[in-house]
Amino acid sequence: MLRKWLCHADVTVRLTPLDPILIKSGYATVDGPDMVPVSTFRGTERVYYFPGTSLKGVLRSHLERVARTLQPRSVCLPYYERPGKTPVPVPSEAGSVGCGHRVRRSRKEDTSAECYADSCAACRTFGSLRFGGRLSISDAYPLEGHAPQTEQRNGVGIDRFTGGTVPGVLFDLLVLVGGVFETRLRLVNFETWQLAALGLLLIDLRDELIQVGSGRSRGLGRVRGEVIDYRLSYLTPTEQLRGLHDLATAEEREQYRLSPWTASGPILLPAPRTSGLRREYDITATWTDHLTELAPAFEDFLKWHGGPKGTPAAAARAER
Ligand SMILES: [Zn+2]
Repeated sequence: MLRKWLCHADVTVRLTPLDPILIKSGYATVDGPDMVPVSTFRGTERVYYFPGTSLKGVLRSHLERVARTLQPRSVCLPYYERPGKTPVPVPSEAGSVGCGHRVRRSRKEDTSAECYADSCAACRTFGSLRFGGRLSISDAYPLEGHAPQTEQRNGVGIDRFTGGTVPGVLFDLLVLVGGVFETRLRLVNFETWQLAALGLLLIDLRDELIQVGSGRSRGLGRVRGEVIDYRLSYLTPTEQLRGLHDLATAEEREQYRLSPWTASGPILLPAPRTSGLRREYDITATWTDHLTELAPAFEDFLKWHGGPKGTPAAAARAER
């Protein structure tokens, strides 16, 4: 099915920083600040932007937190445990080894269907070492005439024993202030619960609950995200919102372990616009209404799926 194209959701989000933002480039400048935001050049002009990978990481960890709150151990800890490296440090989460570090006990080779079936909600959506994920996010560039300003901030090193400042330990950082940025999110071959999860993230962006970049504890990073365009596309015409389960064959449902969740009643879509073979449904004005009906799908999926499957690769190797 990953070789098929059945449906996708495209969302354009406008991000307005409410606090100064610092997404570190990782490169210190020769004689300037120690921490600078990521930038590129358009012609001769320096343009500061938010990398899509950073935004994706922020959305992923927010969704993981929501999932763990709704259903403990429903999502994995993606960086634990690399074979031979750090085991999961919290006993209650010992079973949450990253989906990317798991294998099936019964099979020699994992297929993409098995990876998808075994993966937790976060890995199914955002990907892991074994599987690419269904959501992609573009870099967020400033809108024409809405470039951010830069400001330099200073920090001091704090002595861990005395609580005072450490003489000579000073660092400078360059932060972005203001501006308006735009990014595009695409969720391909979505299940209904994934559309619900995306909706929950968009609502929390709107409500200023998601912070981006570094220095969140020092008052940096709050943004407001506003959905300015939201479209669903299907290859076959439909009058109501459908997810992958409805569009897949019985065999694919089984192989990929697709969630059979359905809303209590049909979620009707507006008349489509035809683009070649594709039918495109503009739900910019109605997506929050649809979300009200879709929202229970996310929690139901977490319970139904039961968390990461498969055996930690390190344990499987040790058995051999
Ligand atoms: Zn996972």
